[in-house]
Amino acid sequence: MGETGRFAPSPTGPLHAGSLVAALASWLDVRARGPRARWLVRIEDADTERCLPGMGEHILRQLAACGLLPDEAPVWQTQRTARYEAALAALQARGLAYPCGCSRKDIAEALARLGQTPERHGERVYPGTCRDGLHGKPARAWRFATFKLDAADAVHAVDAVHADVHWTDRRLGPQRQDVQHEVGDFVLRRADGPWAYQLAVVVDDAEQGVSDVVRGEDLADNTARQVLLQRALGFPTPSYLHTPLVRGADGDKLSKQNDAAAIDTGTPEEALKALDRAAQVLGLSPTSSTTASDRAAALAAWVPEWRALYNSRPS
Ligand code: GLU
Repeated sequence: MGETGRFAPSPTGPLHAGSLVAALASWLDVRARGPRARWLVRIEDADTERCLPGMGEHILRQLAACGLLPDEAPVWQTQRTARYEAALAALQARGLAYPCGCSRKDIAEALARLGQTPERHGERVYPGTCRDGLHGKPARAWRFATFKLDAADAVHAVDAVHADVHWTDRRLGPQRQDVQHEVGDFVLRRADGPWAYQLAVVVDDAEQGVSDVVRGEDLADNTARQVLLQRALGFPTPSYLHTPLVRGADGDKLSKQNDAAAIDTGTPEEALKALDRAAQVLGLSPTSSTTASDRAAALAAWVPEWRALYNSRPS
């Protein structure tokens, strides 16, 4: 399918300073690879509860205002649920997914009983309560059985997939995460319907032939889980580049919740300013002028700079 990159925003809010950095970086990465490479946009609305109506279309308009146009029609995750069903069924058939009946409170209490409070980014490490059955509770979620990956009898069944994942980021260098112990058996689908980001992103990246994932550094911690799922499902692992986070004047990370992260793409001049700020985060030169037609010129000028800065990194 050739070299393919993508930008995969969740329509939970408008494009902001941080997501524009990721969008620009993945666009430049594809353009730097030549005319045959494809840049795709996927609206990640699988977790329907967090998505806002009309926000996917709004993000597409904001991208267009910045001159970031996908090479193919955008894809929406809510139209792809049959593929996620098939992937979950494949994992279930191999004993790599199991139902879990624990609430957040159950998990907190089980960890307290164990005298542990391990947590990652606000998520508790699942203590494995339902690995041996639901204990009479109704299923609330399907979880990935990371513990099976280390069990001698299952290693054979999953072609020696190990939960201790080593991967290399094009910017951050070698990374390692023991998913079983640092994250636990993570959720693939909630019983009330929504698909977890981890499963949906892995299925979509594989099916769309994504060879190069370029996204914000705040997502780097998810990569090991995604690599495990790729291996368990027999998908190739793309190369990864996690872009620098946008920081406010006080050095704090700007988040979607933070007004300072909002960007204005209402006029071509504003869009160029927003692009310019995103380019500076990536270490690219600022544009020297601010007329609307400069937007295309700026994008074109950043391509060779991007190639020099990022394409030579190991992948
Ligand atoms: N949809 C995710 C987000 O907006 C990004 C997914 C990805 O790039 O892997 O945070």
